[in-house]
Amino acid sequence: MNILVCLSQVPDTTTKISFTSDNKELNKAGVQYIINPYDELALTKALELNEASGGGSITVVHVGGADAEPVLRKALAIGADQAVRIDTAPMDARQVAAEIAHFVSSASFDLVLAGRESIDYNGGLVGGMLAEYLDWPLVNVATSIEGGAGGSMIVCRDMDGGREKLEVYLPAVITCQKELTEPRIPNMRGIMAARTKPLQVLAPQGKGADMHVLEHALPPSRQACRFFEVHQMDELVEALHQQAKVL
Ligand SMILES: Cc1cc2nc3c(=O)[nH]c(=O)nc-3n(C[C@H](O)[C@H](O)[C@H](O)COP(=O)(O)OP(=O)(O)OC[C@H]3O[C@@H](n4cnc5c(N)ncnc54)[C@H](O)[C@@H]3O)c2cc1C
Repeated sequence: MNILVCLSQVPDTTTKISFTSDNKELNKAGVQYIINPYDELALTKALELNEASGGGSITVVHVGGADAEPVLRKALAIGADQAVRIDTAPMDARQVAAEIAHFVSSASFDLVLAGRESIDYNGGLVGGMLAEYLDWPLVNVATSIEGGAGGSMIVCRDMDGGREKLEVYLPAVITCQKELTEPRIPNMRGIMAARTKPLQVLAPQGKGADMHVLEHALPPSRQACRFFEVHQMDELVEALHQQAKVL
């Protein structure tokens, strides 16, 4: 199968987030980027599907600037065959989906995998919008994906208190959830091979973003912990009642 994996880069989960430009932009100074964890699972699943079927090719695509190239190289080291970067500042989900849809229309993919959401902006929108642009079926939040008979995939999704098993005909878009598989760590051979694999940079085709951020706000900082001795039960009840307001 020819599989496209949509790859978003996100700040490492240990990053201390702050903003610049009147709280409009993320302060990128010192931020370490990683592959969005759901996208790492999508990439691993793409590798497993092609290993099981004995062939095919895997492309990863990112909409964004040159600062994303290290994460694209990491995806190549994990096992993708080629990477594509659509060179524009990604400002909203519609813009990202439209750019990827344009690229998909110019190529020949059987399956597009994306993460269920990015763990920074948490939109959960790109997969659905992409399917709509392409007029392809969408299966959202997949926990299991296997090859089916005659050009279909068998996909499981969690439901409230149960599980749904679906057959979807290709080409299709599937978004990936964490139970799907275990992420692969690139080995030395993969890292060496990644240096010579193709990383193509394409010009954007769309009209850009429809939205802009007015302001970001951080959650209120947590109060310091207060400890009570066993004999201070009255003070504890008072604090829970008057300050924490949970009683
Ligand atoms: C002011 C501002 C500045 C930003 N600057 C940057 C930046 O410099 N670099 C950056 O990477 N993002 C940047 N973003 C985030 C970018 O806008 C998001 O990628 C986009 O809005 C989609 O986010 P989402 O949470 O809706 O994605 P979701 O819909 O939650 O993502 C779901 C899946 O879609 C795919 N996907 C999401 N984004 C991309 C992408 N860019 N390329 C390929 N696949 C993708 C992934 O598979 C992801 O798991 C910025 C956003 C704003 C508002």
